Amino acid sequence: MAVNADPHVLVVAGSDSSGGAGIARDVETLAAFGVRACLAVTAVTVQTHVAVDHVEMMPPRLIAEQMLAALTANHISAVKIGMLGSEDAIGAVAAVLKQYPNVPTVFDPVMAASSGRALLPDGAIGVMRNDLIPLCTLVTPNLIELAILTGDEQAQGELTARRQGTVLLDDACDAVLVKGGHGSNSRSVDILLRRGQVPIRFDAPRLLGTMRGTGCMLASAAAAWLALGAPIEESVRKAKQLVHRRLRDGHAP
Ligand code: PLP
Repeated sequence: MAVNADPHVLVVAGSDSSGGAGIARDVETLAAFGVRACLAVTAVTVQTHVAVDHVEMMPPRLIAEQMLAALTANHISAVKIGMLGSEDAIGAVAAVLKQYPNVPTVFDPVMAASSGRALLPDGAIGVMRNDLIPLCTLVTPNLIELAILTGDEQAQGELTARRQGTVLLDDACDAVLVKGGHGSNSRSVDILLRRGQVPIRFDAPRLLGTMRGTGCMLASAAAAWLALGAPIEESVRKAKQLVHRRLRDGHAP
């Protein structure tokens, strides 16, 4: 079968009818870097910018089939994973990724909508850590997700955030970016942890504005740069610059 050789990012994520987060954000972010997207839809969510009305999960087999078709049709240079929604979906995605160990994978461990509604059952954390995180190049939890993933309290300071991030790193992914956007200090500090390397701090003034979908944007932008061949640190730096600009300037490109 003819394979489209343009670098593509395979987006494995849920749709958001408001366009604020999920697949719409992912595709618009990849397009900003001239990287093509292909899709494995994990869930359809019915939501406005303030509430989630309904979530319909895709069957795990359908998610895996979409991934395999995308991987067959295109040259996939990176995978970006967002909302998975269930233990079985996580298992299905992990089973496909295992067959493609050389494709860099960025995982944004989405657990709740920006409006607060849970998008992942509690029971799915174990399989996420055991089966999926070890297959990932970069995992990008915010402080709330990090606390849930490590079964700990939300970190109030950098030392605790680093300790919790190291717990995830020990699950065997290549890198963890702990996002400090949900902290309360005047500075927003993200910390990139990589095995065997000194942690890197990304320190920026906390911006007053908020925007939905910034987690999706950051992970997609990092996946775009990995797809273009950039190393992890540069990919994260460029992704953070994009999110900072969008938060500062609104949606203007
Ligand atoms: N994916 C979907 C489908 C969502 O609805 C949301 C939040 O509403 C997210 C991901 C996570 O969005 P954020 O980037 O704000 O963490």
